[in-house]
Amino acid sequence: MHELSLCRSIGQIVRRHAEDRRVTVVHLQVGQLRQVVPDTLVYCWGLVNEGTTCEGSVLDVDHVPAVIECRDCGATTRLVEMSMACGACGSTAVAVTAGEELLVTSIELQGV
Ligand SMILES: [Zn+2]
Repeated sequence: MHELSLCRSIGQIVRRHAEDRRVTVVHLQVGQLRQVVPDTLVYCWGLVNEGTTCEGSVLDVDHVPAVIECRDCGATTRLVEMSMACGACGSTAVAVTAGEELLVTSIELQGV
């Protein structure tokens, strides 16, 4: 499962920063293009953290909508239904400017 391996790598990043301190909340930015199911991600987060300093912590997922910029007309539009076409003129000469994020933005530790 995609989400399970994601949670494992997120857990590694978080624990590296937290050292031996107990983690309470993890704030995560996930771009729309990552095609992650938020509920599954939260469920997997609980699974991979058993017996670690992240056990019982909350995964706060912030969804970042995908945005594309058109090379033909210059418009910046929200990506709808995964069709890589400009929302203004329909051109497919577009570049993704947002939506590929997958990053831990901050973590909260117990007693800090
Ligand atoms: Zn356009």
